[in-house]
Amino acid sequence: MTDEIVGIDLGTTNSEIALYRGGKPEILADAQGRKILPSVVGLSETGEILVGEDARNQWLLYPDRTVRSIKRRMGRDETVRLGEHEYTPQEISAIILKRLKETAEAQLGHTVHKAVITVPAYFSDTQRQATREAGQIAGLEVVRIINEPTAAALVYEAGQREGKRILVYDLGGGTFDVSVVRIEEGVVEVISSHGNNHLGGDDFDQKIVAHILEHLKLSQAVDVSDQPRAMARILRAAETAKKQLSDHPFARIEEEYLAEVEGRPVHLSMELSRHDYEVMIAPYVEETLQAIHTALRSADLTATQVEEILLVGGATRTPVIRRRLMEVFRHEPRGEVDADLCVAMGAAIQGAAIAGQEVSAVLVDVTPYTFGTSAISELDGQLYPNCFIPIIPRNTPIPVRKSDVFYTVLDNQSDVDVRIYQGEERDAQQNIEVGQFRVEGLSKAPAGNEVTLDLALDRDGILHVTAREKKTGLERQIRIDQAVPRYDAAGLQQARERIGSLFGAGEDATVLESVAVSGDAEIVALLDKAGAKLDDVDAEDRQEMIDLMEAIHDAQSTGDRSAVEHARNQLADLLFYLET
Ligand code: AMP
Repeated sequence: MTDEIVGIDLGTTNSEIALYRGGKPEILADAQGRKILPSVVGLSETGEILVGEDARNQWLLYPDRTVRSIKRRMGRDETVRLGEHEYTPQEISAIILKRLKETAEAQLGHTVHKAVITVPAYFSDTQRQATREAGQIAGLEVVRIINEPTAAALVYEAGQREGKRILVYDLGGGTFDVSVVRIEEGVVEVISSHGNNHLGGDDFDQKIVAHILEHLKLSQAVDVSDQPRAMARILRAAETAKKQLSDHPFARIEEEYLAEVEGRPVHLSMELSRHDYEVMIAPYVEETLQAIHTALRSADLTATQVEEILLVGGATRTPVIRRRLMEVFRHEPRGEVDADLCVAMGAAIQGAAIAGQEVSAVLVDVTPYTFGTSAISELDGQLYPNCFIPIIPRNTPIPVRKSDVFYTVLDNQSDVDVRIYQGEERDAQQNIEVGQFRVEGLSKAPAGNEVTLDLALDRDGILHVTAREKKTGLERQIRIDQAVPRYDAAGLQQARERIGSLFGAGEDATVLESVAVSGDAEIVALLDKAGAKLDDVDAEDRQEMIDLMEAIHDAQSTGDRSAVEHARNQLADLLFYLET
């Protein structure tokens, strides 16, 4: 297909490439299955060009042979040095784009010529032009440059008719942007945008790195900050711990033989709690909230006038960010589409729309309810024993696994009762209890003994719950089938009516329902197919289809199998005729 247009997110930290095919945007992975390419270019010891992971890995060891964050220099009249040579920012960006192009071509089995590339909303004309040139150097025709928040809005809202005001909160590795956009009839307009070009997940890593160095100083009286190899390992460990803390209350940081100081080997072994981590990054999170207020003010809007908040950028997986946004906006931010990949997907949607394809918003399989437990906490200013403590928030893509920590309230408390709820009410008793169990035999300890609760929800809606005494590893598990309920009979009926009415055939929907309940799968499938076709055929065929559908219904209700067979065959023939 020559008219294929790929979408590219050329990011400060990471880049991705996507294509809209089979009715949805798909990220194109490299031969190793990697969907994210670090936006880092380097030169190996043997003079070979490195792009992505390999370049990123050598950055701390050979900074003079590695270029990161080139996006920050786009549009400037300057060059960067890579080994012996000087390169313009466009050229370095082109190397990244070329790698993405090759990845796409290897995946698709043919060459890729055209692309939509995203840029931050605040990019000037010069910066946009430089991005265009980078594409051209890489051998791509850049059919359009679009704003990153526009791409994100398309992922969630493409194809929808109603107008909406959306706040896009984008926190990547090295940049933070917040934009207020309006989408109407598929057209996205950025109303205001604000941010900090030097704030992102990398700063969070640095906080953890500083904490680790401090820990080494205090516990072993060593300083490894002047040893690049040790620092590279610490940085990687810090990022891993940070990601772990997005889903779990504690992260272990272990690095054996990290360095040698005065002939002594240095091993790193420590634990970081989510709570301590959240305290470290709180000033950054608050800074992003300030930026939101500035963006809202420039758009002349208040928080209550924003209808959706979309989360973009890997760092938005940090739970405290979602929590703070909930507090400010009083409704849940949406982040069900992979935050790292969202912008590239939106660019691919835009590419498909330019190529003339019909496009729609991205649907992902999410949990429709929040799952959590109950604990003593504050409700309306008073201590209340049954506060609902969410663990897996509603709209989280499944499968998912998340855990949190709870504390015993009495000295030497030997048992805890664990209740699992599904729902959104702050009072757990107003939610649906889906399971409960007791953990017995906890060790003798003062109040505050830590018990972690781990919830894993699989694709089949089965919830696996594990409670574990942190100190001893004592564990108790249960499995809750149908945590995400399937339709019951009444729900099924309602869903059929709703779906039936979408085909503009209220009376026909009734036919579908009553027959479907009688349960002959083949007939149900045939009737579904007929129902879906009703609007695409002319009036005469439509009437004939309705007559046959009703004939099946009547024959089923009187139990006349041969009449059912007869009408069924006629309907099947008619559909066959209409399709050919
Ligand atoms: P992006 O530039 O959008 O790809 O975002 C990259 C940033 O997101 C990096 O700082 C990552 O460490 C960070 N990140 C990725 N996954 C997570 C996670 N699960 N929790 C917290 N931060 C994450």
